[in-house]
Amino acid sequence: MKNVLVAGGAGFIGANLCRSLLEKGCKVTVIDNFSTGKAENLQGLPLDIIDADICYADLTSLQADTVVNLACPASPPAYQKIPVETLMAGSLGVKNLLDLSLRNGSRFLQASTSEVYGEPLVHPQNESYRGNVSSVGPRSMYDESKRFAEALIMAYIKQYRVNAGIVRIFNTYGPFMRPDDGRVVSNFLTQALSGRPLSVYGNGSQTRSFCFVSDLVEGLVKMLESDAAGPVNLGNPTENTVLELAQIIGNICGVEVKLRYDPLPGDDPTRRCPDISLAKQLLNWEPHICLEEGLKQTKSWFASLI
Ligand code: UDP
Repeated sequence: MKNVLVAGGAGFIGANLCRSLLEKGCKVTVIDNFSTGKAENLQGLPLDIIDADICYADLTSLQADTVVNLACPASPPAYQKIPVETLMAGSLGVKNLLDLSLRNGSRFLQASTSEVYGEPLVHPQNESYRGNVSSVGPRSMYDESKRFAEALIMAYIKQYRVNAGIVRIFNTYGPFMRPDDGRVVSNFLTQALSGRPLSVYGNGSQTRSFCFVSDLVEGLVKMLESDAAGPVNLGNPTENTVLELAQIIGNICGVEVKLRYDPLPGDDPTRRCPDISLAKQLLNWEPHICLEEGLKQTKSWFASLI
């Protein structure tokens, strides 16, 4: 892992991963089209940036021994705004990066998602669960993009013996999240910090399991250093309802929690929690930062932006 290409490196997880790779002494190149990522996230870092879309970039002369693909809009409002581009990122974009890995003999790592489990009928979700996804619903552009990417990677492994791995990332939060990305942690923190009511969608009984980004990055690096194909779940198995999250964020921000109930978006999963037995066994990985601690660090990040 000397020469790493990070696709989507200007996004939330990418900006954290790039810092970790640079600390390890890697040479890092980022490719990003800045559709949701921000150049400021990489400001001052000693890395090269290619401003291009992974679907159409000419990568033939690029050298990398490791390729990480995080390039895709990831929050529901963001990917619903550009559904076609989201589907192309998981198909044309992933193919372009896989071909680069094939030419270079690189290790390739794909960020897949807990969304491949859709509205899960198995709880917690392990990797052998095949999911319950709508191919035509309001989240289908993201879910099917990631499912196709997984299938394409498995095909490249079988047909061309590419050294590729897939991680399924569950809800992640932390510094470098966009305050306006529309996700629950960013919405609640910005609302609490500016004295507004917290926008609960539905009745707030739906659950998510929130992983702090430094824990996730550690898992990504371990997966990069292995030759496991996966898919491997990466997430924090502590599950909270949206209402519990609102209360914790209110406490951390030192405000009395006021709630505003908004309609639940279509196909919003009712429960989500990773089974991380495989990550523990294969990678000796598990998260260490509890929700309160991670949210305090994230609050400082958002407070610095206001
Ligand atoms: N959510 C909410 N208020 C918000 C944003 C999201 O109650 O302002 C809910 C959303 O309906 C979902 C959960 O929080 O049930 C997590 O949403 P997010 O968009 O963060 O992630 P995802 O749904 O992709 O897991």
